[in-house]
Amino acid sequence: MKYQNLLKNDKVQCTICPRNCILSEGQEGFCHVRKNVNNEIILTTYGYNTGLAIDPIEKKPLYQFYPTTGILSFGTLGCCMGCQFCQNWQTTKSREDVTRLNKTSPEEIVQIAKNYNCTSVAFTYNDPIIFFEYALDTAKLCRENGIKTVAVTSGFMNPEPAKEFYALMDGANIDLKGFSEKFYKKNCLAKLQPVLDTIKYAVNETNCHVELTTLLIEGENDRIDDLKAECEWITENLGDTVPLHFSAFTPRYNFAKRRPTSFETLLKAYKIAKDAGIKYVYTGNLTNTETSTTYCKNCGKPVIIRNGYQLLGYNLQDGKCTNCGTPCDGRF
Ligand code: SF4
Repeated sequence: MKYQNLLKNDKVQCTICPRNCILSEGQEGFCHVRKNVNNEIILTTYGYNTGLAIDPIEKKPLYQFYPTTGILSFGTLGCCMGCQFCQNWQTTKSREDVTRLNKTSPEEIVQIAKNYNCTSVAFTYNDPIIFFEYALDTAKLCRENGIKTVAVTSGFMNPEPAKEFYALMDGANIDLKGFSEKFYKKNCLAKLQPVLDTIKYAVNETNCHVELTTLLIEGENDRIDDLKAECEWITENLGDTVPLHFSAFTPRYNFAKRRPTSFETLLKAYKIAKDAGIKYVYTGNLTNTETSTTYCKNCGKPVIIRNGYQLLGYNLQDGKCTNCGTPCDGRF
């Protein structure tokens, strides 16, 4: 594995994510799926997945990347993040024997995607950063077979592996889980700055189509000042055309007793982002057509009208607004 440092006393440091775990022989990292075996960091979940599903691409969520197409989705076990509110905790926190999972090779995944006419394959459900080799081998084969690749990820990654990773991704939804180091430290056991660095890199220096998601948890990351700061950072560092999704949190894992996010909270964030000048803003996980529709950034007419994942109207031709001819940002 190239992203590792050999240290003294038979210890090896994994440098895939900013945890930079230092592992003794036989020890697993924070993610529980990368392990020191004979002075080599190996991925114990290579080829194992928690099941394959064909999702609507809008579920990732990606709203401006081949809308309405099917995406073959899979993930494995473990995670590099320690989110107390994890929405997929049954797999990310699982200590299950991995060999009890389905085993599907990259070749088989590509074949299944072809058989079911999927435009894309998604590395999702848990963070593909930690199953780097399995995701990238699959992504290379997808590229060779004309299938698009999508990562759904925390962005908590070191810069060197990020280069290799994003070179093979056509699309990504990167979580921006909150906009303070305090939130990331307390609720994700992680840091915000490496996530911001990854987002900046992916948006500004790669060909990957990026959308961002903030899962709003009332009382934790929905302060008006934090939301304003997040939107300001986005427009200053990424421009105003990166789609931004505010999604409702469902009480789970260590936040099982918290209240679910109300639509009013999503709407508050939506308005702040719109006022900040962000052109494509969405609410998610609670169905509302007005705030899940794509509007032309020039004339303001609705160009992709949605109700949840359901398409109600499509006013783009060759990716351009049928009213004024302005291209919509994204891939169509
Ligand atoms: S990928 Fe896993 S083992 Fe490697 S640094 Fe991150 S948490 Fe540690």
